[in-house]
This record gives sequence, C-alpha cells and structure tokens, in this order.
Amino acid sequence: MYICIDLGGSNIRGTWIKSDGTSGSPVTMKRPKTLTDTKESLCSLVTAIQKQCSDEVQKFGLASAGPMDFEKGVYLSPTNMPELKGFDLKGFISESFGKDVILENDAQAAALGEVYRGCLRGKQNALFFTLGTGLGSGVVMDGTLWKGKVPAGPELGHIYLGPGRRIRCGCGQVGCAETWLNSKALLDMARQRLPVTGLRDLDPYLNDFHDNAIKVMEDYGHRLGLFLSQMVSIFGIGNIGLGGGISRMADYFLPAARRTLEHRLNRRDWLLPRVIRSSSDPDMSALWGMCALMIQNHNNTT
Ligand SMILES: [Zn+2]
Repeated sequence: MYICIDLGGSNIRGTWIKSDGTSGSPVTMKRPKTLTDTKESLCSLVTAIQKQCSDEVQKFGLASAGPMDFEKGVYLSPTNMPELKGFDLKGFISESFGKDVILENDAQAAALGEVYRGCLRGKQNALFFTLGTGLGSGVVMDGTLWKGKVPAGPELGHIYLGPGRRIRCGCGQVGCAETWLNSKALLDMARQRLPVTGLRDLDPYLNDFHDNAIKVMEDYGHRLGLFLSQMVSIFGIGNIGLGGGISRMADYFLPAARRTLEHRLNRRDWLLPRVIRSSSDPDMSALWGMCALMIQNHNNTT
C-alpha cells in the first residue's frame, strides 16, 4: 500500500491507498506551529494510518505548499509556514520510515484530485485553481499533471494581471494575478463597501442579497473572468475547477466571471469553457490527488 499525506498550513491529512484504488478513511490532525511538533505529528499521523491497514508500505506520497525545491524536497521560504523554512521534508520521511517519497505541490495535487474524485471527475484535460491565501494552479493534460519543463510546474498565479493594485506579491513583484484574486484582495474589496474584518463576515450580507455584497462578488467575478480568459487562451482547455476557501462563494461570483469570459472570447467562442465547477470538498482534493499520483506511478512502473 501507499501512504498519502497533505501537509498544509493549518492541518495535516493522510490516508492509505492500494494499487487497485481501495483506500482508507482520511485522518486529519491540526498542524502544530513549530517544526519539532510538526515532525511529531507527521509520525503520529503515519502510525494512525498504519493502524487502519497493516499491509507493508511501499512508498509515501506527500503534497505540500511551496515554494519548495521539489527535487531535493526542501522547503524554501513557505509564506504560510515560516517555521518550516529549510526543512528537508523528503529526507525526514524517507529516513524515518525507510521508504521512497514522491513529492508534489499541493495545488497541482489538488488539480489531479479533482479529476480523480472531485468536480472534474473523468476529465482528461482540466485547469484547476485554488483561491485562498494564494492562487495555486494545476494543469492536467491527457490525464496527467503537466509540469512544463521545471520540477515545480507552472506558476499561473504569478502572471501579470495588470497595474493598479499596489500590493507586493509573495514572489516580490506587483500586479500578479494572486494579488488581485487571493483572500486579501477579496477582503480589501469587501471592506470598501461593508463593515467587515474577515471573509466570513460577508456571509450574512450574501445570505440577505445585500446590494454591496453582491457588487463585491460581481467585481471579484469580473477579475476572475479576466484571469480565466487568459488561461483558456493559453491552454485551450475548457474544463475549469476552483478550490480554496473563496470557492465556497462561487455561486455568487461565477455568473459575473462567465459574463466576462463571454465578452472577452465573443469572437473566439470555441475557447469558452464548457465546465466551470467549484470543488465540493476542497480540503480533500490534494490528498486524493496524491492517491491518484501514486496509482499512476504504480501503473507506470509495473
Ligand atoms: Zn507573484
């Protein structure tokens, strides 16, 4: 069997999966905010998973947020997990358990997970974006992750989406799509129209269809539509999935995103996305993606 783990900013999740696709119940733990405790939690998680299935572990699959040196398996400067800077995750797991490790960026794993078991199930070609603290991306082509020619894969959240927002991105630049579409961007838009301090504060206004809240969602949808029109122009892929915390509000912002896409692509309507869906369980998509990756890896090596 394979053990798959998603190490995120807030939680660590894991499960086992066999080459025939059978898998266990996912185990979730809060991630402690120190490196030592994170290591301990990783070991406890593996023990809990092994209690579910006693088969010999063949390999580990790990998904985590970057930036990371994906060849060496070492964290560079993770924005949301600064205590893990320099942590050799791959080395720690392989030394602790004596097994090989496959590592993947969490957003790219999530793309594969949504194709495997989620909102893009069965699609051979798909674009997936996580809208949250950052803007993660994953491209699936012919059923497998497309990585370009670099181990870390594409970084679509850092394409230039225009001037006017003077927030410096985690990559050091201004104008990145991430700074226009992440949680901070949406909160800044909401604050201009409503007395809110966090995105959850928007919920009661949205439930009441408050004019200002609806306007915020339309503006956000328009921005997203501009971004997606570029993505489909580049990749020519018409299946789009959305995950991350903001995707739970998709019903409110997707109509505006679709209108912008139709406007931008009105003379190239063959590029219009056929499917735009939000994940029904965004917390699980990276974990299912690692499961899919382990099975693909198994099939490629046997
Ligand atoms: Zn950037």
